[in-house]
Amino acid sequence: MNVLVINAGSSSLKYQLMDPETGDVAAKGLCERIGIDGRLTHKVDGKKAEREIPMPTHSEAINAVLEILVDPEYGVIKSVDEIDAVGHRVLHGGMKFTDSCIIDDACIKAIEDCIPLGPLHNPANLMGIRACQAVMPGKPQVAVFDTAFHMTMPPVAYRYAIEKKYYENDDIRRYGFHGTSHKYITRRAIALMGRTDLKIINCHLGNGSSLSAVKDGKCMDTSMGLSPLAGVCMGTRSGDIDPTVCQFIMNKYGLTADEMLNDLNKKSGVKALSGVSSDFRDIEGAAKEGNEDAQLALDKFAYDVKKYIGAYAAALGGCDVLTFTAGVGENGPDMRAKICQGLEYMGVKIDPEKNNTRGKETIISTDDSKVTVWVIPTNEELMIAQDTAELVKAAN
Ligand code: AMP
Repeated sequence: MNVLVINAGSSSLKYQLMDPETGDVAAKGLCERIGIDGRLTHKVDGKKAEREIPMPTHSEAINAVLEILVDPEYGVIKSVDEIDAVGHRVLHGGMKFTDSCIIDDACIKAIEDCIPLGPLHNPANLMGIRACQAVMPGKPQVAVFDTAFHMTMPPVAYRYAIEKKYYENDDIRRYGFHGTSHKYITRRAIALMGRTDLKIINCHLGNGSSLSAVKDGKCMDTSMGLSPLAGVCMGTRSGDIDPTVCQFIMNKYGLTADEMLNDLNKKSGVKALSGVSSDFRDIEGAAKEGNEDAQLALDKFAYDVKKYIGAYAAALGGCDVLTFTAGVGENGPDMRAKICQGLEYMGVKIDPEKNNTRGKETIISTDDSKVTVWVIPTNEELMIAQDTAELVKAAN
């Protein structure tokens, strides 16, 4: 089966053509500058094609993708008929989506209804969906939501302690994000451990970072909230913050709510603390050269993650498996060691030699560690392709 996985942004569109059973990626690429001029970068078998193609809308971008997928030199299929289904990444599923779903009119309407919760991403995701409908009418399509995996959380985890009317009338609650990654990592951890009855703490640590607490395969808590701004401090996001800080800054410097949020999303986190970069490699480099602000940024990030691990161990009543994934989680042995340092009391013992690994699925804890600590490279595209294949097969 061939599934075309689409991740549409407002002016960009990432794609992968993949086999959901093997995970093999036949080709992948990126359309950029949609609505401006249009550029396609396509990768296949170590070859790269770059083309300037006018893309006034997402439809031209999808057309360009389909054309290059059947191209005599860079193509991997003979005809678009060989694409069995399309899987779309959608940011916010609100309270309406507890799982992935086949795209029909009702599904589109429900994604539209979630726009107030995901005002930046959902409209772009919808543009990708509509473009595929226009260019490939009748092709089965599935929406996979970043929030869905977390919908099993109990009310104590997802409710905010604010007036009930905001929850009842406006769906204000904790949703969580990176759900496709947390779902993939949970499935892998269960498969690797050979059992489902596990208490798992997943650490997705990248430019955006979130943790999840999982029991028997179900998400019980997660660190992001109504939006991806909550939780641990991140590349450019502040993470959890006392709202009074916002009130103080807004009043003193005359910032609007949108401007304040923009600062918290784009100018904060380890970038702000270090004054160096949002990239952990740059920060680690600066810290090694003695930059104290960079060191503080690394210390604070590790501290935040450690604190959430402790909180989730308490919430779950223990921890059997701790996982690390995403850019920093997969490739940052120093950060992993720093986070796990001092967690011996809860049974986490890291083997420094095993921990000296990057980008590979591997155990990094000692044989006698009570908690099994895994590095598991995430694969959100594969999760989207698998959900798509499963739903499309079930519908036929
Ligand atoms: P992601 O958002 O998952 O793509 O992760 C991006 C983050 O991963 C960036 O901050 C990178 O600096 C970080 N990263 C990637 N490779 C490494 C590495 N070898 N060591 C430390 N951090 C890394």
